[in-house]
Amino acid sequence: MIEMFDVWKTYPNGTNALKGINIRIEKGEFVYVVGPSGAGKSTFIKLMYREEKPTKGQIFLGGFNVSRIKERQIPTVRRSIGVVFQDFKLLPTLSVFENVAFAMEVIEASPKQIKPRVMDVLGLVKLKHKAKMLPRELSGGEQQRVALARALVNNPGIIIADEPTGNLDPETSWEIMKLFEEINQRGTTVVMATHNREIVNTMRKRVIAIEAGQIARDEQRGEYGYED
Ligand code: ADP
Ligand code: ADP
Repeated sequence: MIEMFDVWKTYPNGTNALKGINIRIEKGEFVYVVGPSGAGKSTFIKLMYREEKPTKGQIFLGGFNVSRIKERQIPTVRRSIGVVFQDFKLLPTLSVFENVAFAMEVIEASPKQIKPRVMDVLGLVKLKHKAKMLPRELSGGEQQRVALARALVNNPGIIIADEPTGNLDPETSWEIMKLFEEINQRGTTVVMATHNREIVNTMRKRVIAIEAGQIARDEQRGEYGYED
């Protein structure tokens, strides 16, 4: 479960990116975060995985008070969250297998646990046969599937994604979305910022719209609602 109570974010240059956000996302939900560019979607997402700290307010995530945790607890929180980015953020010199394994090495899993688990998640994203390839040898959609495998490998309760289909063509975007849906059906909470109007309007999940740093809409089976 994710909760925010009166969350504000002001960047050091004075930009008020979020202004009093209150939200509750239940375990197992699938939520789209939509809104115009510059509305505060990325900031909202970054606060969840502790990339940014709120200026004011409280954030609870899977039992942790994210706004209060000590530096040394950040890895524990990150372990309970998988994050997927628009630009994949794979390590270019590591193979597909190594990119995914790295996320387990960071949490000090044993080599004995790592190999079967990595092959398991690569199976889920249908990339077992490309385990030895480098990211640059893969298409964009395949790279995003590696990123998704990496996000899932430690079995987090929550997957957070910031524009995961932003660099992909429509057909590939749908493949990635089907994977997110499958992951959600297995019980993982999904929170995704997106500009993909077609996907939001077809999948009909909960939609939270952020405009000028505030929640403008929060609807079950909502729509994208913008013309961009
Ligand atoms: P969105 O993801 O909806 O495009 P962002 O959360 O990226 O919105 O940005 C919200 C506002 O905060 C924008 O005005 C943006 O320029 C500003 N902003 C984002 N990141 C920073 C930063 N690191 N420093 C200063 N301002 C920022
Ligand atoms: P897309 O149609 O998504 O642009 P690509 O044309 O980039 O896909 O890739 C098509 C297939 O060829 C993918 O399965 C990818 O893994 C493979 N591929 C692309 N570039 C290379 C490369 N440099 N070495 C090996 N395989 C590659």
